[in-house]
Amino acid sequence: IFDEYTIKSLVRPVPDFPKAGVTFRDITPLYRSPKAMRMVADSLIQRYVESPVTHIGAIDARGFLLGAVIAYELNKPLILFRKVGKLPGDTLKDTYATEYSKAELEIQSDSFAGGEQVLLLDDLIATGGTFLAAARLVKQLGASVYEAAAIIDLPDLGGSRKMQDADIPTYSLCAFA
Ligand code: 5GP
Repeated sequence: IFDEYTIKSLVRPVPDFPKAGVTFRDITPLYRSPKAMRMVADSLIQRYVESPVTHIGAIDARGFLLGAVIAYELNKPLILFRKVGKLPGDTLKDTYATEYSKAELEIQSDSFAGGEQVLLLDDLIATGGTFLAAARLVKQLGASVYEAAAIIDLPDLGGSRKMQDADIPTYSLCAFA
């Protein structure tokens, strides 16, 4: 049974990280809790087990940890959306702005052939820039985003709203308003 209170109690606010004025939501206590991680994984598996999702797209780096578990349980291919410069071979890149810096996301050009239904996974939605960049890469290769899902949404930063405005179905297990 999913217990939002348990999940939220394992997310630690860290003031002024990675820079002054930003409160970072640290999810490492959650990742350290097998019970909470099982709750998170089971909820997502239940949500997508009978969906038309064909591929899991996991975002570097905390999204990888979630992506691996969900791809294993759903028995789907796992596609890595990486920080730039890590992937060999032909790649596609997308540059975007984050809450505190500029970032670049990259995937291998042969990740999708066209027509795939991709479930994008990450730990947290802040400004939405990362998921929006991942969604652009998916579309550039002719695939579709079935849904972009995270453990946590920070709705005050406007990211989930921006994603919905861009017609990206968006889901989170809990939110800090
Ligand atoms: P966005 O692109 O939505 O602004 O930021 C989300 C991305 O940055 C995710 O990949 C997430 O891991 C990371 N991120 C941004 N802010 C936070 C935060 O407060 N806590 C955590 N755990 N990750 C964050």
